[in-house]
Amino acid sequence: MPLRRLAVLVVLTVLSACARTPPSAVVFGPPPAPAVLDPDSACLQELSMMRVAYQPVQAFGDPDQGCGIVNPVSVSASGAALNRPGIMTCNLARTVARFEGEVVQPAARARFGQAVKKIHHAGTYDCRMRRNGTTLAAAGSSASRGGRLSEHAKGQAIDIVAFELEDGTQVSVKKDWRGAGVRSAFLQDVARASCTSFNVVLTPNHDRLHQDHLHLDIGPHTLCGY
Ligand SMILES: [Zn+2]
Repeated sequence: MPLRRLAVLVVLTVLSACARTPPSAVVFGPPPAPAVLDPDSACLQELSMMRVAYQPVQAFGDPDQGCGIVNPVSVSASGAALNRPGIMTCNLARTVARFEGEVVQPAARARFGQAVKKIHHAGTYDCRMRRNGTTLAAAGSSASRGGRLSEHAKGQAIDIVAFELEDGTQVSVKKDWRGAGVRSAFLQDVARASCTSFNVVLTPNHDRLHQDHLHLDIGPHTLCGY
């Protein structure tokens, strides 16, 4: 083989090797940023860290058009147990867990010297309009029927009816909201402080539709109805 052809062959072989083998890792500047976590995944991880007992649920409906939740979870305990599992957005589950740890338990220890072991709720996700309580047959029908969907229809609200203490005492919104006793004081403490966790807080002070529960939601409106 002539010397010139041999030299060309060697050069081509080296270039070919360079093309196949990436250069060794010499990095200038800052390292690449870590991948951004999917917000739903980050929320689920937070639930786990906050001792929330939950099951992810298949997304359903279309909250932009009507009833539905994009990232639903079924929550059975939010620190304290729930009386029954509630379907809600991951974001609401996270907010309820913070509310339980930062508002409910400190208030219970301050007023009763014991913790709340169970939160009794009357509903989370519910495909219905605001105020009239009419359950819609199908998602997405709000626009055609007029009126506004409740935040419950988007999994963004929870109705709390009672708090059950470790010794079994039930502190009921319906029975104990009014009055001068420690149970009323506890409920007032919780309602007042919940305005820092939720966007809308409706209590028996708000209207007759809320005589037996605290409506707490993280929807787009702001109203501290305490
Ligand atoms: Zn409600």
